[in-house]
Order: sequence, then C-alpha cells, then structure tokens
Amino acid sequence: MHCPFCAAEDTKVIDSRLVAEGDQVRRRRECLSCAERFTTYEVAELVMPKIIKQNGNREPFDEEKLRSGFLRALEKRPVSVEDIEAVINHIKHTLRATGEREVQSLVVGELVMENLKQLDQVAYVRFASVYRSFQDIAEFRDEIERLEAEPNNP
Ligand SMILES: [Zn+2]
Repeated sequence: MHCPFCAAEDTKVIDSRLVAEGDQVRRRRECLSCAERFTTYEVAELVMPKIIKQNGNREPFDEEKLRSGFLRALEKRPVSVEDIEAVINHIKHTLRATGEREVQSLVVGELVMENLKQLDQVAYVRFASVYRSFQDIAEFRDEIERLEAEPNNP
C-alpha cells in the first residue's frame, strides 16, 4: 500500500502478527522512500450492508422485516420454521459475502424470490404477485407457466 507520509507506492511489511484472538492481522510497514514506519490492521469485512431503497434512501438491513415477509408468504403452507430460518441465514450470509457496504433493495427482493421458489412454489407465486404487482390473472398464469417450464421443477 501507499505510504501515508510521502505517498510513495512501495512499502514493505516488516512484521505481521495475529491480534484480537486471531480476528485481525496487524502489520508493521516501512516506506522504501522515506523510511517512515506505520501500522495497518486487516479485518474481514462481514458487516451487513445497508439497503438502498428505490427512492434512494439508505436503511439498515432489517432481519425482522425479512422474516415477516417470509411468514406472510408462507402462511398456512407446509414449510417448517427451521427451513424458514435456514433460508434467512442463507440470505444474510449471501449479503455479507458480497463485501459491499450498500446493496439495492431489489437485490434482496430477488434473493427472497429465488429462495422462496425452492421452498414452496405456492408461496413464491403469492409473494411474486405482490412484489411484481401483478395486474391481472394473466400475469399469474404467465408466472406459473414459467415455473412449470423450469427444468429443475419437481
Ligand atoms: Zn514514505
């Protein structure tokens, strides 16, 4: 990385050790131009990204909102709470793994749709009808035909 003192491009690592019980790497670096020394800390970025709403507002990721969305779509469907929790964890993991600080709410919506489709197709069509604002019965029929046409359909 660049030297913070003289902005030279080359700095060398002169010491590297694990700190914070192995969750961080502390590196001592020395600038090859000005010989100043400085320290950097490296941590895995696993924070949940902020959600960018369609109107451009940012808000924190809301797990409860995600859960209630799933529960609403899956009302009276034969899907266990464990399966719902597993899917919520999977979505959280996917969002963290992006490494992005902000993601569009559309990305979350698509993840929900994708996971719901695996979980329960009735719930999926239910959710899609609201999420994609189906205007009439033809749009339901189209979505169901699309589902039936998918190769991995059971
Ligand atoms: Zn320097």
